[in-house]
Amino acid sequence: MSLLKVDEARARILTHFEPIGTETLPLAKCARRVLATNVAARNDLPSFDNSSMDGFAVIASDLADAVPASPRTLNVVADIPAGTSPDVTLAPGQAARIMTGAPMPKGADAVIPVEETDFQDRSPGTLAPKSVAIYKALKAGDYVRAQGTDVQTGQPVLQSGHKLRPQDLGLLAMLGVADVPVYRKPQVALLSSGDELVPVEAPLRPGKIRDSNTYTLSALLEEAEVEVLNLGIAADRRESVEELLEKAATQNVDLILSSAGVSVGAFDFIKDVVEAQGELTFWRVNMRPGKPLAFGKFKGIPFIGLPGNPVSAFVGFEVFVRPALERLSGLETISRPRVRVRLAESLSSDGRESYLRADVHEENGILCAHLAGHQGSGNLLSIVQANALLIIPAGVKSLAAGKDVDAWLL
Ligand code: AMP
Ligand code: MG
Repeated sequence: MSLLKVDEARARILTHFEPIGTETLPLAKCARRVLATNVAARNDLPSFDNSSMDGFAVIASDLADAVPASPRTLNVVADIPAGTSPDVTLAPGQAARIMTGAPMPKGADAVIPVEETDFQDRSPGTLAPKSVAIYKALKAGDYVRAQGTDVQTGQPVLQSGHKLRPQDLGLLAMLGVADVPVYRKPQVALLSSGDELVPVEAPLRPGKIRDSNTYTLSALLEEAEVEVLNLGIAADRRESVEELLEKAATQNVDLILSSAGVSVGAFDFIKDVVEAQGELTFWRVNMRPGKPLAFGKFKGIPFIGLPGNPVSAFVGFEVFVRPALERLSGLETISRPRVRVRLAESLSSDGRESYLRADVHEENGILCAHLAGHQGSGNLLSIVQANALLIIPAGVKSLAAGKDVDAWLL
């Protein structure tokens, strides 16, 4: 049986995923959520001409000849703290004390910073002087933040499908967007399977191992802004698998994710149970680790069955599950961009598309990759010691030190 290309397997999976709907949330709840609408500015930023310094609003032409030895003295006719709205209009020879962020008075076209005047007191409560001597000439527009220089009304500022970052929330706040349409968080049911597995708090008996995939996959899902329905461990019995999958279906989750039981033979219950209420195909993907993969639908809900080996499950998540979650979440940008890194040592591969665990760090401005630990698919320490997955293309059997390869930084 020929092996399925990684890209082909991923493309087949992705045809079954679409963004799952939207909800409107208060802005403060929107960090890391995916925007579900394009946003255009509802107002200019700044929304009025204002001072960028503590100083005096002036008419620039009044100060044409001002120099330290021969300052120009202006009458101070108003005091404009931030948050007020001045009603004065400056006439030639006049100035207004003004604070950073306060609106420019009519007639004024520049601000002279307080440091360039004989009035340098900025302690709280100090009253404005009657007059001020100014030591320096300036141009119209100096130290004025003109309305609309940052953003203009109607300008597109954020696109649907963008994951909202702290600075995006700040911009939305400035634009008065209090309620934000975002994509709903996908709900994913997670199960581990195998009679050998016991939860972390249970004693280890002969032949048993601790379930690691539940913890790793659950954390990966949560990091991807997904709500996790943790189903626990399915025993290698039909009724056990049935019971957990039914629970996932009752909750109407967007994806059922399992690990183990997808290699040849042994664990047939997932296949039977899923097929009885939908469809399931086992694939052999041309990749290492993580060749076996199952994909199907249980009662209409997409089902992805990752391999059981912890490293294979981790890699399978990155290669197949993360892109599916991005689709479900409405994300338009990929959350794991590829970067180029330089091999610090030579490596060999078996010709399958390989995801090697590596430690990548900067040396003299170049990202250099050292393989992390033993590369077997059960070697959990290799992913713990790694901060990157090197992506070695199919067909490549060896690479010399100094070659550049693609990598995902974890
Ligand atoms: P399987 O896919 O069922 O053949 O399992 C492959 C290997 O992964 C076996 O050595 C299992 O014991 C191991 N394994 C399966 N599930 C888990 C899990 N949740 N945590 C840790 N190891 C697991
Ligand atoms: Mg098993």
